[in-house]
Amino acid sequence: MTVSTSSRLRTAVVLTSAGLAAVGALVAAGPAAVAHTGSTATSSAHRPSEPKQAVATGRGGAVASVDLDASRAGIATLRHGGNAVDAAVATAATLGVTEPFVAGPGGGGFMVVYLAKQHRVLTIDGRETCPAACSPGLFLENGQPLAFEEARHSGLAVGVPGMVGTWAQAVRRYGTHRLSADLQPAIRRAEGGFRIDDTFVQETNESLADLQAFTSSRELFLRHGQPLPVGTLLRNPDLARTYRMIARHGPRYLYDGPLAGAIARTVQHPPVWKGTPLTVRPGIMTRKDLAGYHAEEPAPTHVRYRGNDVYGMPPPSSGGSTTGEALNILSGYDMSGESRALALHHYIESLRYSFADRNRYVADPDYVDVPLHGLLDRAFAATRRCLITDTAATSPVAPGDPYPPYTGCPSTGTASPSTDHEQSTNNIVTADRWGNVVAYTNTIEHFAGTGMTVPGYGFLLNNEMTDFDFAPSDPAVPDVNLPEGGKIPRSSMNPTIVLRNGHPVFAVGSPGGATIITTVLQILINHIDFGMSLEDAIAAPRVGNFNTPASFAEQAFLDTPVAKTLQDEYGQQFSVVTGVTPLDSEIGAATGLELLSHHRFRADAEPVRRGGGSALVVDPGRPGR
Ligand code: GLU
Repeated sequence: MTVSTSSRLRTAVVLTSAGLAAVGALVAAGPAAVAHTGSTATSSAHRPSEPKQAVATGRGGAVASVDLDASRAGIATLRHGGNAVDAAVATAATLGVTEPFVAGPGGGGFMVVYLAKQHRVLTIDGRETCPAACSPGLFLENGQPLAFEEARHSGLAVGVPGMVGTWAQAVRRYGTHRLSADLQPAIRRAEGGFRIDDTFVQETNESLADLQAFTSSRELFLRHGQPLPVGTLLRNPDLARTYRMIARHGPRYLYDGPLAGAIARTVQHPPVWKGTPLTVRPGIMTRKDLAGYHAEEPAPTHVRYRGNDVYGMPPPSSGGSTTGEALNILSGYDMSGESRALALHHYIESLRYSFADRNRYVADPDYVDVPLHGLLDRAFAATRRCLITDTAATSPVAPGDPYPPYTGCPSTGTASPSTDHEQSTNNIVTADRWGNVVAYTNTIEHFAGTGMTVPGYGFLLNNEMTDFDFAPSDPAVPDVNLPEGGKIPRSSMNPTIVLRNGHPVFAVGSPGGATIITTVLQILINHIDFGMSLEDAIAAPRVGNFNTPASFAEQAFLDTPVAKTLQDEYGQQFSVVTGVTPLDSEIGAATGLELLSHHRFRADAEPVRRGGGSALVVDPGRPGR
């Protein structure tokens, strides 16, 4: 039996008893030494001298991302005097070139920064906003919500991109370089091109129909309407020019210059290919919406967990609050002392209750009164923990009451269903020789966003507005996450920095929609409670729960003896994630880094998922040093 847990989940979830669905064949031809470019070809291809590696240890600073070229851009920036903020921006801009389906100037994200000199953690909220004309009916037609896929490739789905605003603000306030310097590696990569690999082809296939629907995307990312073969050299001179203009004129080129006009035009009059069977609805973004964009700097979330200070992203992301609440619940258990099965049972149950509260309360705090203080209060967590027994609860469990005086063990009420989707995001972590640390999760939402490339500018537009609820799911439950003019949709992005005794010890983050939260939480408990190295914690098989009866899991987790114990002794049920391409069977290609003693760093990228990430350090030193 195949169950899809939400309309937007293209990954099928198959009950374990039914076994794994067949994994579809990849549309990946053999290597081809062919150059593909949106317009003119330029210089020769870059060939990385070192292979992609998931772990690197050394001095001088570190970078981990989902891509070797992008991590190299970050390292080059550190070597040339940039700090961790500059390196994060250089890495993100390069990802816009080499990972255009999960990154780039058409998207947004959240950055958490530890500033060593000021000894403080800050955040930058560079999430996309809904245009001023947005209303709760944004995704309704004849009173009915659009299907996710229909909404996703529409102009309606596009939020005002926050990416370039974030980069400019981060570098201006906290960097040591200028934005123009940080963009240089990305400009070079866009001009020189990069070789398409298997993962790129899989990502193209995830969104092929959407890319096929737009003339500008067909031209840049497809050949005769089909994915570019593995080995193709993809150059993007349009994006190189876009970055060069941003380098010269600053972010106003995008928000108040020619590019603002091009974005608004693309949203209002999408460049639809006449042969597409898709219905493409125009959007409502204007130049004025772009001109009004500002990245914000809300205070980070903070919880103490077993002597660690865990800092994360506050609303409109639900990352920090949901992880924080779950950690507060788990702090009442002896996670390292109890059996692994019982500890994982507690982990899953903590997620059930935290997600019930997330879904009910967390949204854009400029529009909704989010009880963040309560959600992060240990006394509130105690009212959730007391509901947990040695048998899995029946989800959906009701949200709690995160307002003082937090008494009793309330368990009545109605819960709205949880949502879930793919892992089309990326996480960057950087650290520099001065001790600054950055965790930066950013995205264009779905793989390839809307599928719409801004003609002549070389990047895809996000579909972030589909993170809003399209309609209240239950009339009895207030829906805090409906579209409104200027509002930001709830996110799950969860860049996290952990301090111990006042010093940063590690940073982590992940892609994966709502599984971002479960992935980061699982990595935290793997590392802090179960004593795994960060490398092993990132690689470990994933399991999680969004307040659904069955927890979702990778097959590798279900193959472990502990999964059977959880089912037999604790009444947990599981669904396996699977789908058409290998990407659909994976949860969370995370990245992290650790600050070791003697000014050494270890960068930890995902070893396998999404083709494996890239961890690099500035100075790897000699072996054994
Ligand atoms: N849009 C999602 C969020 O903000 C992230 C996209 C993804 O990872 O699929 O939570």
